[in-house]
Amino acid sequence: MANFDPHKGYAPLLAETLVTESQLQMRCGELGGQISEDYAGREVLLICILRGGVMFLTDLMRHIRVPCQIDMMAVQSYGLGARSSNGEPRITLDLNSSIRDRHVLLVEDIVDSGHTIAQVLKILQTREPASLKVCALLNKQSRRQAHVPLSYVGFEIEDKYVFGYGLDLDEYFRNLPFIGVLKPEHY
Ligand code: 5GP
Repeated sequence: MANFDPHKGYAPLLAETLVTESQLQMRCGELGGQISEDYAGREVLLICILRGGVMFLTDLMRHIRVPCQIDMMAVQSYGLGARSSNGEPRITLDLNSSIRDRHVLLVEDIVDSGHTIAQVLKILQTREPASLKVCALLNKQSRRQAHVPLSYVGFEIEDKYVFGYGLDLDEYFRNLPFIGVLKPEHY
């Protein structure tokens, strides 16, 4: 990632707004409604993949109408600032709760190569959940290397580097309420 001064704000880095705040809120409502229907009569454990999934989780869960609990796990996909995963993500913070016999829904910010979520699914499957599905806010299908079944997708996006709404640029700008595309000269 190119150098930038976070004190100058996001504007010099922004090529375009990809998903607006109101589009994000509307989609969270739709996904939450769909999840509530699909899990009707059951309880769901939402697992947030830190840190990128935080904003999405907190907005999505407001629209879930079945009993739900949350837990968090952190995965290091690759070196901070790197653009793509190398296929060997590592769990750096594990869950607090047991997922055995529970309906688990992973809440992820973006699926790119798919290596991160594939690895997480592999690990969690060994803990014998009743079901295990993935809800990804963004999907970059064109960059997929590992097969990952996504049950819920917020937005299909092109191969562009995005930030905001939980997604970072060198750990900054996760707090933006919209998703922006990084100017190519900063890749
Ligand atoms: P994967 O293992 O699917 O290649 O990588 C998934 C992770 O890469 C995401 O959870 C996210 O942390 C990071 N990532 C992939 N694409 C982008 C992007 O366009 N912007 C940002 N900020 N992070 C990304």
